[in-house]
Amino acid sequence: MSDTVLVTGATGYIARHAVAQLLDAGHTVRGTARRAEAAQGLRSDLTPHLADPATIDRFSLVVADLGSDDGWVAAVAGCSQVCHVASPLPAGEPKNPDQVIRPAVDGTLRVLRAAASAGVQRVVLTSSIAAVLYGVDRRGKVFTEADWSNPDAKGIGTYERSKTLAERAAWEFMATPEAGALELATINPGLVLGPMIGSEASTSNESVRKLLARELPACPDLTYAFVDVRDVAAAHVAALTAPSAAGHRHICAIDSHSLREVAAILAREYGPKGYRVPTGKLPGWGLKVAALFDKTAAMALNDLGNPQRIDNTRVVQLLGRPLRDLEEMTLAMAASLEHYGHVQPKARRRS
Ligand code: NAP
Repeated sequence: MSDTVLVTGATGYIARHAVAQLLDAGHTVRGTARRAEAAQGLRSDLTPHLADPATIDRFSLVVADLGSDDGWVAAVAGCSQVCHVASPLPAGEPKNPDQVIRPAVDGTLRVLRAAASAGVQRVVLTSSIAAVLYGVDRRGKVFTEADWSNPDAKGIGTYERSKTLAERAAWEFMATPEAGALELATINPGLVLGPMIGSEASTSNESVRKLLARELPACPDLTYAFVDVRDVAAAHVAALTAPSAAGHRHICAIDSHSLREVAAILAREYGPKGYRVPTGKLPGWGLKVAALFDKTAAMALNDLGNPQRIDNTRVVQLLGRPLRDLEEMTLAMAASLEHYGHVQPKARRRS
């Protein structure tokens, strides 16, 4: 069996780290992207992040879109494993929910079908805690892999619905004869922070970017289960081969922290550099007002007064070490945002 791993959506924030870690671990990696032109930029972004820059020669890119059957059979051909990372991650509620839900669900099934018929051993699907703890009562509950979001709950966001339906469709596919000997594991990350590989910003960067750019006068008291992108990628790599991972979901996050803790870390480190990070508490009504004109704030309304408590025992066992802490992931993301020019100190901005 070959040692080629397919990584779908290789252009994305998380997938870039997965590609880099797979190359470092000695694998040959084939990525998918929607545009062939992404290849050159991706190679130059990845190369400085590799333990041995020469291993970029083991990386190739093919074109496939989750919304079309074209290209998936060729993409999986000869691969022993697949990380299916690609899925739309909108910055706000889409006008047409199907623009997010259809690529998430149909794309997952396209990848699984192609993988099963090509004799791939295992698919690791990037799901989310969006598929674990949305549309349900969170009060007093610590969520585990046994828990599922309710995609039919009133007010659930389209993204959370898309991730729940996609993961559900994946496990349902695995129960059909078509799946054959294929194995599935899912990684269910929380809110991902940590360093960027390349300058392209993603939805994940928004919370830290908004704080550094002081786009709100105060910080919403939202409590999330955060995780470092390097740990998310490492969990994917481990789940590709660990015998214990097959057939399991893995919640991948540290237990919950307030966004105000992120703001406090940023204020301490970046305040002296001229950034005016808002650390005061934005009251709930303030977030509701902000949500009227800010798409990302609107998406966060479901999390207001609704903390995310999770049990990460399974992923810690998979990795054999603790996950990175809030300070490390926050400062690494802030450093990337500054390095790639997404934020700058107030003083310099005026000049
Ligand atoms: P990202 O940077 O926006 O990456 C999303 C990737 O999906 C991109 O490569 C994008 O390709 C690809 N994609 C979107 N629609 C597609 C389509 N129709 N056909 C083919 N590819 C498509 O976001 P990310 O944070 O790395 O997210 C990656 C995965 O992690 C997603 O499954 C997301 O749900 C999951 N996740 C993310 C977080 C988080 O906080 N970031 C948390 C939990 C789970 P283009 O470059 O062509 O747009």
